[in-house]
Amino acid sequence: MIVASMWSLGSMMMPGCEADDDGLEALAAVEAPARAPGDLRAAPMVEVFDDVSVVVPPAGTRVSVEVIYEDGQMEFVDVSTDDDGRTELHYPDEAWGLVAPPPPAAVCPVECADDRGSLKGWHWIVPLTWKYRDLGRPAALNKTATINALFDGASGPPLARDACGLADNVSATHTYLGETLLAPHISLVGGVIACTSVDADNVIGWADLPGNVLGVTCTWSTNTGIATGTDMLYDNVFPWYTSSTAPAGCGNQISLRGVATHEFGHAFGLGHSPGDSCNLTMYPSTGPCNDGQRNFGLGDVMGLEAVY
Ligand SMILES: [Zn+2]
Repeated sequence: MIVASMWSLGSMMMPGCEADDDGLEALAAVEAPARAPGDLRAAPMVEVFDDVSVVVPPAGTRVSVEVIYEDGQMEFVDVSTDDDGRTELHYPDEAWGLVAPPPPAAVCPVECADDRGSLKGWHWIVPLTWKYRDLGRPAALNKTATINALFDGASGPPLARDACGLADNVSATHTYLGETLLAPHISLVGGVIACTSVDADNVIGWADLPGNVLGVTCTWSTNTGIATGTDMLYDNVFPWYTSSTAPAGCGNQISLRGVATHEFGHAFGLGHSPGDSCNLTMYPSTGPCNDGQRNFGLGDVMGLEAVY
């Protein structure tokens, strides 16, 4: 699949190359001691947004975190440590802070004609396997319906699910491995959300997330672009709906299917779509009762085809 020139290769950092100004800046750098992969003892933390941190990743690896807020806006940051143990933060979105609220959808290009997007620079070389942790599920949500909604989100990228009639040329796969008691590797100590360390289990779970945070996704990868893990936490206080279409009288509820589809888009390697691409799934903002986010648009599918 040809990728249009307006694409940006999100956070891919090639050895010896500095980030250019193509929507990517290294705004901060911290020195971290070099450690062998997997050695997270006494690992230092670095704050990436207010009350959001990550454990500094081992040399040669990267961790990326997206935070979704209750108003539907999203922030994304990558933290990578090079082979010499130097850690850098990369903010691929517009700047530190939230993007502007989306314009009315009617003024954005229609999703089937909007070919914009970006890539995070990682992909899976094995099926993305994941597990569900039911502990803390909102009482208002049915368990089976919740699992089905998350499965729907995980299926979106492999299916290249869209409402444009595009062929599915995406070779990515996911496998649901069932329920687990393992917690996502996302700590909430002291009201600070933190991506900790990658492990073999990719877990989606629930928690009473601090402040106005609606969800958080951590994805780990090597600096050479191989995804190694992803975990997600969703807020169990905010009102979600699990159906494909918004419930009658939908007010402030948010589609779990839509948000999960966006988050799995990231997990599979998509970045955010730029500008006024507010009808694309990977636009970094959503809103209540938004069923359309569940279906990718042209630019989203082009990105998936570029990676898989
Ligand atoms: Zn996002």
